[in-house]
Amino acid sequence: MKVYKFGGASVRNAEGVRNIASILQKTEDKVFVIISAMGKTTNALEGVHEAFMANRNERARERWREVLDYHLGIIGQLFADEHKATVENSLLPLTDEIVKIIDNSAERDDFDKFYDRIVSFGELMSTTIISQYLNLQGGVDNLWVDMRQLLVTDSRFREAGVNYTITARNICEVVGRCDKRVIVGQGFIGANPSGCTTTLGREGSDYSAAVVASVTEADSVTIWKDVPGILNADPKHFDNTVKIPCLNYLDAVELAHSGAQVIHPKTIKPLQNKNIPLCVKPFGQPDQEGTIICSQQTQQMNVPIMILKQNQILISIRPNDFSFVLEDKLSEIFSLMGQYRIKINLIQSSAVSLTVCVDQSRHIDRLIDQLQTEYKVAYNDNLKLLTIRGYDEELFTRYADSEDAFLVQRTRRTLRIVLKA
Ligand code: ASP
Ligand code: MG
Repeated sequence: MKVYKFGGASVRNAEGVRNIASILQKTEDKVFVIISAMGKTTNALEGVHEAFMANRNERARERWREVLDYHLGIIGQLFADEHKATVENSLLPLTDEIVKIIDNSAERDDFDKFYDRIVSFGELMSTTIISQYLNLQGGVDNLWVDMRQLLVTDSRFREAGVNYTITARNICEVVGRCDKRVIVGQGFIGANPSGCTTTLGREGSDYSAAVVASVTEADSVTIWKDVPGILNADPKHFDNTVKIPCLNYLDAVELAHSGAQVIHPKTIKPLQNKNIPLCVKPFGQPDQEGTIICSQQTQQMNVPIMILKQNQILISIRPNDFSFVLEDKLSEIFSLMGQYRIKINLIQSSAVSLTVCVDQSRHIDRLIDQLQTEYKVAYNDNLKLLTIRGYDEELFTRYADSEDAFLVQRTRRTLRIVLKA
């Protein structure tokens, strides 16, 4: 079996959905298809959630209506008249459910839990529409599955961890029993053991695809994207970018972790563990090679890879009493960061101080307040982190020697610089 993942950009309009049908028609393999929410739906649903949490029900319903209209527009373009009503009606249970959530007067206490309940509707809608399109008009007989019943997670809402054992049992059971060639399921979403909807973190559909591939020991995963493959740098920020034909798992995971937005950082581990290759292919040109990520790089790369991670904050932490930070305080500081779900991107230490570069997040202020009860804390925000793998002296001079560089770390292969944004 193969696993295909189609992201939001690939399914943002009717043409994208037709293209999925054409890609699926071209393969004879059994395929488990993982699909994201259409276009910018997740952002829009974050708006619904925001209004909902602020007790602005009217506003929440209005924003939901915009999301729904966008989907109805796509249905209008996609389906022949005889099918339109059926497909529109198939969204009704979802509409009822979300309106019920919005109008429920129960206390809006758990921000993250409600986030997952509301935002998950993006994937539920996209797959409901696409699965029917494939069945009714696209010539691809398929089974729609609700990943909330298959992908079981812990209860860390918005960043749930997957229970591989139960998930494997559930998914293998469905795959074994399904007599259709194609199965269509949602990326990004799952549920905890009591059935509450969870999500795997923004852009988490890649990870869903990797989980499905891992538990079914699939032959490969293909992530279909609106780029020709993995480029050595983001063309929005750098000139003369080139496509990388092949990467090993280690480079890929470093790249993803440093902020390359082509694949979700958690995607690589389950694939590496089972030695399943990952292809990143251009949605618009399915016959092109794209990039292959596997255990062994077949082609040496001779271009530097540049990754820019935005919204960084550099925090320096010093014990008031001159304790050695690495010996006495490290685990305490790290456990605090774990508690606030702060992701550390770079660390530097001296005898009595620890400096970390982390993603700006809504928990940062609370973390800093908490740290300040025991440590001297200084920070700079509005920074970006540039990682260059395979840098040369010219790149070093250009970026690390600049006045904007707050912190520079280099090994023989990798250069990392925290810069003013
Ligand atoms: N729809 C979710 C998001 O936009 C998950 C994904 O696209 O991977 O973050
Ligand atoms: Mg997406």
